[in-house]
Amino acid sequence: MAERAAKNGVKVWSLTDHDTAAGWDEAREEANRLGMRFIPGVEITCEVPLLPEENMLDAHQSNPSSWHLLAYFPEGCSHGFIEWLDAMKEARIPRMEGMIQRLSEHGMEISLEEVMAIADGAVGRPHLARVMLEKGMIDTFQEAFDLWIGDEGPAFSPRPLPKIPDVVNKIRSENGISSLAHPYYYGISPKNLGNYLISQKIDAVEAFHRSHSDSLRWALMNIGLPITVGGDSHGTEHNPSPGKMLAPLTHLHSAFHP
Ligand SMILES: [Zn+2]
Repeated sequence: MAERAAKNGVKVWSLTDHDTAAGWDEAREEANRLGMRFIPGVEITCEVPLLPEENMLDAHQSNPSSWHLLAYFPEGCSHGFIEWLDAMKEARIPRMEGMIQRLSEHGMEISLEEVMAIADGAVGRPHLARVMLEKGMIDTFQEAFDLWIGDEGPAFSPRPLPKIPDVVNKIRSENGISSLAHPYYYGISPKNLGNYLISQKIDAVEAFHRSHSDSLRWALMNIGLPITVGGDSHGTEHNPSPGKMLAPLTHLHSAFHP
C-alpha cells in the first residue's frame, strides 16, 4: 500500500485499518523509507446516528448498518486508546461466529479458524468473503456481499457498536482528528450532513472518495469543514490505487499539509 501511495505522489499518508492499530509500525517504517510523512489512523465502526433521507439512497446503496468515523493521530495516541480498540476487536469474533453459523445453515461449511488465518488485524466480512471465494462457494468476492453477508443478506450478523458522540470525545481526548468516512453511503444530503457533523464537533469530512460524484465532492467541500482524502483500499486485490486525485490544500485539513 505504501509503495502504491508513494508512486502516485502521496506526500502525507495515513493507514486507517478498521478498528485496529496493528499495522501502524510497519506502515510508518515503509512511509519513512519512501519519504512520506506518516499519520497513524483508524476507521472506527459506529452506530448509525441518522436514518437515510428519502431519495438520497440510490440503486447501488442499501440502508447502512453502520457509519465509519476516521480517527487520525498526528501526535500519536495513548496505550489506553489502543486497548479500547482491541476490546472492540474482540466483539468481532462472536459476530463472525454468528455469520459462520448462518452460512452453515445454508450448506456452506466454514470454520472460524479458516477466517482468522487470513485476518491480520480485526476480523471482518472481507476475510469471510475471501474464504468463501477460496472454497468455491461464490464466483466473485462481491458475490459474497450481494448474496450472503451484505447488510441485508441472509447470513449477515450485526455487532454492538459505539456511538458517534462517544467516539468523537475519545478521539478528541487523544488530540486526534475525526473525519466522517465516505458520506455517500449514508444517504444524507450534504446540507443536513454538514449540520450534523458540526453539531457533533467532528473535525473534517472525507470529501474525496471513489463513490463521490464531482458534484457531491464539491458539495462536501463546502459544508463548512476541512476535508480529508480516502483511498478506501481493502487489500491490494480490491481498490488498489490510493492517491489518484489531487486534493486542494485550501480545503484539506491542515494536519495533512505536506
Ligand atoms: Zn468505511
